[in-house]
Amino acid sequence: MRRFRPRRWLVWTLVPVLVLLISLWGTWQVSDSRTFQFYGGLTDRVDTADKVVALTFDDGPTEGTPEVLKALAEAQVKATFFVTGRELAAHPEHGKAIVRAGHELGNHTYSHQRMVLVGGDFVRSEVERTDALIRAAGHTGEIHFRPPNGKKLLSLPRYLAQHQRQTIMWDVEPESDGTDAADPAAITRAVLEKTRPGSIVLLHVMYPVRQPSLAAVPGLVAGLKERGYRFVTVSELLALRR
Ligand SMILES: [Zn+2]
Repeated sequence: MRRFRPRRWLVWTLVPVLVLLISLWGTWQVSDSRTFQFYGGLTDRVDTADKVVALTFDDGPTEGTPEVLKALAEAQVKATFFVTGRELAAHPEHGKAIVRAGHELGNHTYSHQRMVLVGGDFVRSEVERTDALIRAAGHTGEIHFRPPNGKKLLSLPRYLAQHQRQTIMWDVEPESDGTDAADPAAITRAVLEKTRPGSIVLLHVMYPVRQPSLAAVPGLVAGLKERGYRFVTVSELLALRR
């Protein structure tokens, strides 16, 4: 019987290709991770026994802001809005209205690009320009940061760590966890099911296409309040841990 001997050239070709593929896959996984990054702090929820939850909205502000603020006022809760500099520059009045209503503004970069394989200067510009607009909208206190699509790899976390800032992620994402994102009742159910003390809920409510998410807000707020939850901003949530 002949023993199997892989041809040498085949090994020399296949092994590096496999190593490369596995590294790429690993890098992609890390860049996507909700709970891990190479540098600095990352928060996807806060470990607490208190029944608190932070409601967070990504993107905007857009023309849809008044409707969102109305829903939150009716539900009597405060939320955190991770806005982009580009949209804030286009709608400064909506940014100011968010702050005036007592909600928190967070930084979601200037141009909403994937912050992977980007240089330090690009990161600085994306973060700092947006910070300046958030300050101009009237936000005082710490400015929290959330990367677009939750993507980060090296330069972004390194920059944030150098500036004593961390990455704010989330642990409840009803729009992308297999829930029917077109059905407000399904979104509400998913949030009620998955929220734990210290959770951070992510929703997108700024664009017409996300109408079901906005429609889910009254139900999920009522349901969580019924279960004894209190709504806090990201700053208030982080303060509980310290
Ligand atoms: Zn976004």
